[in-house]
Amino acid sequence: EEPSFPPPPQNVDSAPFAILVGLFEKLSVERKQERRRKFLDSWFTHWRDEKGYDLYPVLRLLLPQKDRERAVYGLKEKNLAKTYIKLIPLGMRDPDAIRLLNWKKPTERERSAGDFPAVLYEVVSKRSSVIDSSLSIDDLNHILDELAQNMGKQDIQSKILQRIYNRSTANEQRWIIRIILKDMQISVKETTVFSVFHPDAQDLYNTCSDLKKVAWELWDPSFRLNSENKAIQLFHVFAPMLCKRPTRRIEDTVREMGGAEFYIEEKLDGERMQLHRRGNESNRKGKDYTYLYGKHVGTGSLTPHIDQAFDSRIDDIILDGEMLVWDPVTERNLPFGTLKTAARGTDNSKAELNPRPCFKVFDLLYLNGQSLIHKPLSFRKRNLRHCLKEITGRIEYAVEYRGKTAKDIRGRMDDVMAARGEGLVIKHPLSKYVLNGRNMDWIKVKPEYMDNMGETVDVLVVAGNYGSGKRGGGVSSLICAVFDDRRGDDDDEPKYSTFVRIGSGLSYADYVWVRDKPWKAWNPQQQPSFLLTASRSQDDKGDVFLEPEDSFILKIKAAEIVPSDQYHMGFTMRFPRATAIRDDLTVADCMSATAVLESLKMERKR
Ligand code: ATP
Repeated sequence: EEPSFPPPPQNVDSAPFAILVGLFEKLSVERKQERRRKFLDSWFTHWRDEKGYDLYPVLRLLLPQKDRERAVYGLKEKNLAKTYIKLIPLGMRDPDAIRLLNWKKPTERERSAGDFPAVLYEVVSKRSSVIDSSLSIDDLNHILDELAQNMGKQDIQSKILQRIYNRSTANEQRWIIRIILKDMQISVKETTVFSVFHPDAQDLYNTCSDLKKVAWELWDPSFRLNSENKAIQLFHVFAPMLCKRPTRRIEDTVREMGGAEFYIEEKLDGERMQLHRRGNESNRKGKDYTYLYGKHVGTGSLTPHIDQAFDSRIDDIILDGEMLVWDPVTERNLPFGTLKTAARGTDNSKAELNPRPCFKVFDLLYLNGQSLIHKPLSFRKRNLRHCLKEITGRIEYAVEYRGKTAKDIRGRMDDVMAARGEGLVIKHPLSKYVLNGRNMDWIKVKPEYMDNMGETVDVLVVAGNYGSGKRGGGVSSLICAVFDDRRGDDDDEPKYSTFVRIGSGLSYADYVWVRDKPWKAWNPQQQPSFLLTASRSQDDKGDVFLEPEDSFILKIKAAEIVPSDQYHMGFTMRFPRATAIRDDLTVADCMSATAVLESLKMERKR
């Protein structure tokens, strides 16, 4: 598709790449951020005066990581090293060849270790006879285009690199390699480059991820975008809204929601994906278009299966969500890495049983020609429900609850932890969708964010309950206790005080090991004599128990310790996860009740 915006006015002749290298060098040594901005600004101004208004050729070299037209070269340090060894050429035993291949390894004399372009520079500068390069900025852009077009064709790519080697200085090559590796190390962030280039550049880039569009539509610094130009568009990849980390306590997160009923969604552990779709039953002339944008795109293995999900009145739609991998055999989600294999297996005869990408939708951003990002989340979600019918295992709504209090969040958190999920995302119902934004309207809650006090305890497993469903067939959740050293009586038998129940963090192999222990049936009329439980609680009663000498120590991490009448300790841990079975410890290493109370006192003081 050709861009609808023409290139800006420019003079014909190209500029030498050397002048851009001059800017790179200046930026890379200047320590003050304000001065780096100034350098950039006067460089751009100078270019506009001398060369005209087309800064696209320059922006692509300044922000190679944002240049989608040359997305991948398939060249990493290792194959660049091999190619250079051949084209210089260096013998395989040459110390410089070895240095190039082992560029990460520190050496005594050179400080460049770990920085591949710097190592390469040292090697090339000893040999290259090019002092005055003939390479222009346009030349370099053409060469890089060719390099990208020939991804995977080593012979051709090495001929192209040979041209770079023959025509540019060692120093220029250092910068060209940085561009190829998409890591410039010039200490200016993309936001700085954009804001110096044009006040609306970042906003426009967020809507389309298209550097050329930004460079060409905003070539005139005096032209400003209106809000309509900042809306998202069909088939243009936008920068999605992200989540903020919470301040420490869940109560703080609730306060951010301003008293309103908020959304509680599971934080899904897949990959962010946006779906753009055009076409419907009635007006379509042949074909619907559905595109997915994300890191690993599973288009081929998903889009043919989801046509029926969309209401027939929909012409255009953009959805935001997370791509997961669904395994129809075990009826579980699998880690995302398995999607590549999942996508491969679409055409064999057992395809129905193969793991497949499943798109979990949580937002609606565009509908029939209208961008909805400025509408409140509750409006978007309501409309979403009218647009989409779920197709199990292909396209589904992300699970979503409402809540008002910290207790609501804690409850959902327990469920998610029990199901071994990652965490929750709390969303304000009135929030607008901020492209590339990370604000307090979307807050991610994960136990590890609350872990900063490091509540890690070694506790004794005393009892267990049988699981159901997927975790049926044996002990599933474990009741843990601490050694109760608070008792003054002269009872010889050491007593343990129930403290926490744990249902997540253990692997399948761990469970096999755990279930193999000599569990004994728990008699409700006569509970184990070593165990102190809460009088009116079901939470700390098991189906089975383990004698202390048969049992083991579990290392547990949790977000917080809170009062609770469900455990004999009078306290329990919130969002506990087992981090290890401490097979190396004995019953004597179990934490004491006093130690728990001490750590609680310390925490309160902070
Ligand atoms: P962390 O490393 O702390 O897990 P992250 O990179 O997963 O952070 P952010 O950078 O804050 O998180 O971005 C949020 C990401 O969370 C999104 O890009 C998306 O992939 C993922 N996510 C999962 N579930 C949801 C959800 N229900 N709503 C929004 N984002 C979600």
